[in-house]
Amino acid sequence: MSATERQDVLVIDDSELIHALLRVRLQHEAINLHHAYSADEGLAAAKTIKPHLILLDVSMPKTSGFELCRILKNDPELVQIPVIFLTGAAGVASKLWGFDVGAVDYVTKPFEPAELRARVRSALRTRKLLQMLEERARIDGLTGLWNRSYFDRRLDEEIAVCNRHDRQLSLVLVDVDHFKQINDTYGHPFGDRVLEAIGRTLEKGRGTDVVFRYGGEEFAVIARHTPLESAITLADSMRHRIEAMGLTGNNGEPVVVTASFGVAGSETLETPTPAALLGAADAALYLSKREGRNCVRAA
Ligand code: GH3
Ligand code: MG
Ligand code: MG
Repeated sequence: MSATERQDVLVIDDSELIHALLRVRLQHEAINLHHAYSADEGLAAAKTIKPHLILLDVSMPKTSGFELCRILKNDPELVQIPVIFLTGAAGVASKLWGFDVGAVDYVTKPFEPAELRARVRSALRTRKLLQMLEERARIDGLTGLWNRSYFDRRLDEEIAVCNRHDRQLSLVLVDVDHFKQINDTYGHPFGDRVLEAIGRTLEKGRGTDVVFRYGGEEFAVIARHTPLESAITLADSMRHRIEAMGLTGNNGEPVVVTASFGVAGSETLETPTPAALLGAADAALYLSKREGRNCVRAA
């Protein structure tokens, strides 16, 4: 297994002996061990490393493991990291308390080596599966692009970043022209192929653009760090590429597909909010439909 596939595990325990023991017990696992010796140090390390798993001592001076776990679970950036408690006193109440504050498991000191490894592997496996599911929930099944629900979240995030750092961002909305007619003429499966092809074409753009399937035959592109004028140029090159896709119908005949574009730039809005940017791009898209389709209009 390569170094990049190794998972990061953070051990937070005030006892040097425990760290040394875990180093030996877990040396053959595909993990990178990181070490912190107090709750404060552990919290700071969790924030910078963003480990895949935390092994957390219950009893530490100053801030206990339970308290630290509660802090981790209240931090949106850290809440997903699974925590396994390292417990000395194996009383039932203490174990239950660990689960109450958000741990996924516990191991009792002194460690039984095989059990320790099994619990660590199991927590890492579950975490990986959860991540895969989360990722899949953001992807559109037909085109493989990001889907609408992720668009909503991502636009919020990108606009927040933009406002914080006084940067520009543009939004491009794309709607396929007369798509109903394409479906009616060539059939729904062909329509699906057209949507896939458009998705691939839009993705061939710049690395900083994020492409989404916004609705049935609608797409959206978040053009990061891009003022309106550049986004209009970008949209026009996308428009051109869609027109030139060179699709052929069921009998080999050429089928030309076009799309209309609406562009909005954050710098043109008094207060750039997701709703304002979307509203402006949508109004521009409406204009491009009204003014003949297969064109780009800006708000
Ligand atoms: P306009 O130029 O005004 O945008 O006309 P249009 O026909 O593209 O727009 P309209 O909204 O009337 O029709 C959109 C069509 O897109 C209707 C719907 O059946 C089709 N559609 C939506 N999602 C899919 C899909 O996943 N696959 C296929 N094949 N068709 C879809
Ligand atoms: Mg539409
Ligand atoms: Mg349409």
